[in-house]
Amino acid sequence: MKRLSGLSLAVALALCVTKAVAEDEALAAALARVSAPAVRANVEFLADDLLEGRDTGTRGYDLAARYVATQLALAGIAPAGDAGSFFQRVPLLETRLVEGSISFASASGIATLVRNEDFIMTGDSLRPEAKVTAPVVFAGFGVTAQKLRYDDYAGLDVKGKIVAMLSNAPARFPSEERAYHASRTRKAENAVQHGAVGLLLLRTPEEEARTPWARLLGYADGPSLRWTHPDGSPEGVFPSLQGGAALSARATERLFAVSPVPLATVFARAEKGPFPGFALGVTATLSARSEHVRTSSPNVVGLLEGSDPKLRGSYVVYSAHLDHVGVRAGEGGDRIHNGAYDNALGSAVVLEVARVLAGQKPRPRRSLLFLFVTAEEKGLLGSDYFASRPTVPASALAANVNVDMPLVLFPIGDVVAFGAENSTLEAKARSAAASVGLSLSPDPMPEETIFVRSDQYSFVRKGVPAVMFSPGMRSADAAQDGRKLFLEFIGKHYHRPSDDTSLPMDLASIARFTKANLALGYAIAQDDAAPAWKPGNFFGETFARTAP
Ligand SMILES: [Zn+2]
Repeated sequence: MKRLSGLSLAVALALCVTKAVAEDEALAAALARVSAPAVRANVEFLADDLLEGRDTGTRGYDLAARYVATQLALAGIAPAGDAGSFFQRVPLLETRLVEGSISFASASGIATLVRNEDFIMTGDSLRPEAKVTAPVVFAGFGVTAQKLRYDDYAGLDVKGKIVAMLSNAPARFPSEERAYHASRTRKAENAVQHGAVGLLLLRTPEEEARTPWARLLGYADGPSLRWTHPDGSPEGVFPSLQGGAALSARATERLFAVSPVPLATVFARAEKGPFPGFALGVTATLSARSEHVRTSSPNVVGLLEGSDPKLRGSYVVYSAHLDHVGVRAGEGGDRIHNGAYDNALGSAVVLEVARVLAGQKPRPRRSLLFLFVTAEEKGLLGSDYFASRPTVPASALAANVNVDMPLVLFPIGDVVAFGAENSTLEAKARSAAASVGLSLSPDPMPEETIFVRSDQYSFVRKGVPAVMFSPGMRSADAAQDGRKLFLEFIGKHYHRPSDDTSLPMDLASIARFTKANLALGYAIAQDDAAPAWKPGNFFGETFARTAP
């Protein structure tokens, strides 16, 4: 028996090694089939002027979606949207502010603010007419973070009041916690939980320096969008909040005209806080007249069924947003925001991964979903809708690999795996990058909280481990300054008409970057163990779900 079991162990080991070698060979064969010119060809189509910037709800976006569905079908990918189609219809509510006003009444008199100069207001998604009058209470950053023993509302009564709060969250928070607590939805939710009826967001000098008011105004007049539930109600809206706005620096000074604590002291102490909030001695009236339009826009979803009967009920989701910001005022007469990098390229990368893996034999063990989402630019709506109402069982989503605006302006030398460190995806991301000769760099700009600003975060919020590869700033060509080119894009071309196909796009880097994404998804698909959050991880604990 002993000898026999030793023999069977040897056989089992040999089989294991053979299987690993076979998997390596299958992966190598897949990587060899990645074609940068194919990716580039899809970018040329998706970023063409004919598609008019692929804005959510426009003909240009619908054409892009139809094209992507066609490409998936040609590659042999099965439809996985609604009713056997490639499309998942995302019902949307569009709200446009027709008229908005704010006034402050205090011992020093009545001040009437000027819209856009003094405040930015979005419409009320629930009511055509909304109006609220209440005393204003300053509540620091408006943050309650129990784990960090921080509460701006401690000892403060804001029931029936309008809360004024600094935007963002304390800089000394770990960056992920900061990003979570800084989000407007979380701030609003927290205010509502404390009984507030209105919300005024104040900008810190630091924030004004980073994004001047004038730049915010560029987005102020467009409608806001929310996805809607089957009963028609919009997601992420708090009915008890009857008014809200962001105030400019000038309006914030007015709000503090009779404050017991000077504004300069507030700014100086904010970072050392929390310090007790206080009533500002002002009663504010906020009113909004809004128009509503119901519309919809499709996500595109394709499926490559897994080859392993035990794992095929578990899904790795590749995602990329297909929408961009459409046609709007631009410099030099060009008004079409082609979004070649943002995110025609990311979409084309995911299409290429789909095309290559569809042709692989045997197919990956887990099933793969290829998801192209709408309305990312409107606040991650398409991905949030999919993650909330997936076309496969929610508990079967194993991981998300997102691709958004991969900048290959120069020959890339590294990649950043945003969010990987939170889960067991970290090791896989590292070896996937290494397998194509790219080193893994830490997040070069943690203050930008990239991980919570693209579609992967919609999955994270449902408890699904996620990662987004982005090319780093290290150039493989000593003659090209990667950091300079990267920052130049952000300053000159990001969300501008000039993000088009005339920008440099390094073909060899496209190939390597696409391969890194393919290798990563493949590694997740082949592993018996589904990705898991690291023990004690902030996202894992905050958004815990029952294991698949
Ligand atoms: Zn964008």
